[in-house]
Amino acid sequence: MRTLLDLVLPVACAGCGTVGVGWCADCAAALTLGPVRVWPRADPGVPCWALGRYAGPGRRAVLAAKEHGRRDLAAPLGVALAGGLARLRTRDRALVLIPAPSRAAAARRRGGDPVVRAALAAARSLPDSRVVPLMRMWWGVRDSVGLTPRERQHNLGGRIGAAPCRGGAVGISANADVVLVDDVLTTGATASESVRVLAGIGVSVCAVLVVCAA
Ligand SMILES: [Zn+2]
Repeated sequence: MRTLLDLVLPVACAGCGTVGVGWCADCAAALTLGPVRVWPRADPGVPCWALGRYAGPGRRAVLAAKEHGRRDLAAPLGVALAGGLARLRTRDRALVLIPAPSRAAAARRRGGDPVVRAALAAARSLPDSRVVPLMRMWWGVRDSVGLTPRERQHNLGGRIGAAPCRGGAVGISANADVVLVDDVLTTGATASESVRVLAGIGVSVCAVLVVCAA
């Protein structure tokens, strides 16, 4: 369908609408100013960083990737995340990216998980880094739009887990920098629950990095 539409509708920048390019240089530059430290209300207990605020080109790109099936944005969002990760990572340590979980139903409707795709693109452009998509969100989690922070926490309680790995081993070296990545950080509920669940299986997250912080 996308290919058919492309024949009819000219491609436009997801950030500013400039015709002829999916993601323009100006919008790309807007995501290279950070990462900036952010403090969500639900504190995951590790430093949280964002490439920018949940506004402007970053916000529009995240929404286009998540809600409008713009799979082409995985590469530029991945490159933007890689820029932030290059600044945050410890020298001479391996880097492991764990995409934050999204609702299975939502991910399927969107034709795959945009956060996983962006993380994979980020890892491809960084040395000694890989993506371990461990996190799962079970059925029964309502979309969090319109929920208060307390309702969000309750909505997630026990619904986020880590997928079982082959042989029961997670296979993440204790010497690696483990970063939880997501598209948006709002209340911090998803990040907090993810960090807690990962700690429970022996994975110590050292930072959270998102494209946009609300
Ligand atoms: Zn643009």
